[in-house]
Amino acid sequence: DYEIEFDNALEMFRAGLARDPGGDALKYFDGTVSRQELDELSDALAAGLLANGFAAGDRLAVYLQNVPQFVIAMVATWKAGGVMVSINPMSRKRELSYLLADSGATVLVSLEGLYDEVAREVVPDTDVRLVLTTSELDFQTRDDQRLFAGSRRQRHEGTTDLLEFVDQHRGQTPPPVRLRPDDVAFLTYTSGTTGVPKGAMNTHRNVVFTAQVYRDWTRAGRDGAIFGIAPLFHITGLIGHIAVSMLVPAPLVLAYRFEPQVVLDALLEHRPTFTIGAITALNALLNAPGFTRDHFASFTSVYSGGAAISPTAAKAFLTATGTPVHNAYGLTETTSPMTVTPFGAPSPVDPTSGALSVGVPAPNTIVRIQDDDGRDVPLGEVGEIVAEGPQVVAGYWGKPEETAANLPGGALKSGDVGFMSPEGWVFIVDRKKDMINASGYKVWPREVEDVLAEHPAVRESAVVGVADEKRGETVKAFVSVKAGSAVTAEELIAHCKERMAAYKYPRQVEIIDELPKTVTGKILRRELRDREATTRPT
Ligand code: ATP
Repeated sequence: DYEIEFDNALEMFRAGLARDPGGDALKYFDGTVSRQELDELSDALAAGLLANGFAAGDRLAVYLQNVPQFVIAMVATWKAGGVMVSINPMSRKRELSYLLADSGATVLVSLEGLYDEVAREVVPDTDVRLVLTTSELDFQTRDDQRLFAGSRRQRHEGTTDLLEFVDQHRGQTPPPVRLRPDDVAFLTYTSGTTGVPKGAMNTHRNVVFTAQVYRDWTRAGRDGAIFGIAPLFHITGLIGHIAVSMLVPAPLVLAYRFEPQVVLDALLEHRPTFTIGAITALNALLNAPGFTRDHFASFTSVYSGGAAISPTAAKAFLTATGTPVHNAYGLTETTSPMTVTPFGAPSPVDPTSGALSVGVPAPNTIVRIQDDDGRDVPLGEVGEIVAEGPQVVAGYWGKPEETAANLPGGALKSGDVGFMSPEGWVFIVDRKKDMINASGYKVWPREVEDVLAEHPAVRESAVVGVADEKRGETVKAFVSVKAGSAVTAEELIAHCKERMAAYKYPRQVEIIDELPKTVTGKILRRELRDREATTRPT
């Protein structure tokens, strides 16, 4: 049986610290924060929070890009017995206002620029009593105009500078806290494609367990440094970057935000060995000017997670970098990994659907495939993926009804449709709500996208259902083309028609420059569907 090694994520951090106190915890351009320094900075911040009325169970919201302050605030929140609220730095006023109100956060840690643009107007209507602002220019001395053009340190009334606040409490140690496995470590919000965003309560047990899964199954950080390609606020970054780097321990390299040219430079400078992120981000690196095989020469292990990857994209990655990309699958509600392709094991491809497996269930995890009535279907048959295990969240913050609906009896209904092979490999067909109903036939966008990916000119594609008088819905593909390639819509339709059943191939193809994506690199089919619905002539 797979044992969970620590009661809480703070103990896990402290064990890593004890093993390697002088080692680098964080690398940010030319700056480094050692484990010891991270401990001291977070001690001071926690002591300051407690001195300012923050109490056990209180929420501290982090509204930051990938900067060292993110990790300092996270450890400090735990030391003060609190819950970190992870906020997408792309959130605008309405979204931030909702997230602060929903979580009831009393402290906000924000980048100065984001405070100025977004938070300043929002904060007065919330429970936030203390705003700590910080700059992306701290912890490094570069003046990279690709990232920091227009950045300058700016102070705002009613806010306190985070690092000055830390300095004021230097040398103070917060009193010991007792964090139980069921206590919430952080709230991560679903992006709200279905209803309002819900705060998934990722407990300390969830966090320690999933960090172990990455360490043991993906080799993350065991032989060098972890590169933070995913945004830290997202569950992939929180676990696949931060938590596992604390556990191993291994340095975590941060680069503010995903800018391909900057990331390529950072790869050569820091020579990381592991990363996990969306295939769209990995692809953006391969297609960036100046990319060479050498950029990935230091990696032993690369994982694609958070979005579907086609067998063609996986092959292209291996050819371009010499390193295989492994597939992992999870949700905010499974604290990242639900199924993982164990390091070194090639994922099988399903001969019928052409899908690349997302791996096998993580240890102590039961993955079921169920029909609409919640009954298990036989192996190999398609149904909704349902998961039980130590990574499944306790529920949604303040939302008992949604918790009961999506997590009945503690099992997570993923909203994804898939199947399991007799050998235990899990395959995702697609998201339940993205299914296209063309004349009564079920069409799963991912399968059509995988076929499009086989065309040499296709960079990325997104397939959606659009209204059609005859068929109810018909299949439409939006496609972006590789630099230096040319292809027509007719050619792509012919390519698909040759390779798939008549009801599946796209009747319409629209070539566009760039597909809409989330910051995590997930292609937004929903946005394309909405765009179609509003531009369709009536
Ligand atoms: P919301 O649930 O509100 O729509 P979201 O999509 O951003 O928000 P996440 O928890 O970030 O929520 O994403 C989880 C989803 O991402 C899964 O349900 C699945 O559809 C998709 N996904 C994650 N990993 C993979 C993978 N390896 N292959 C295919 N799909 C994946």
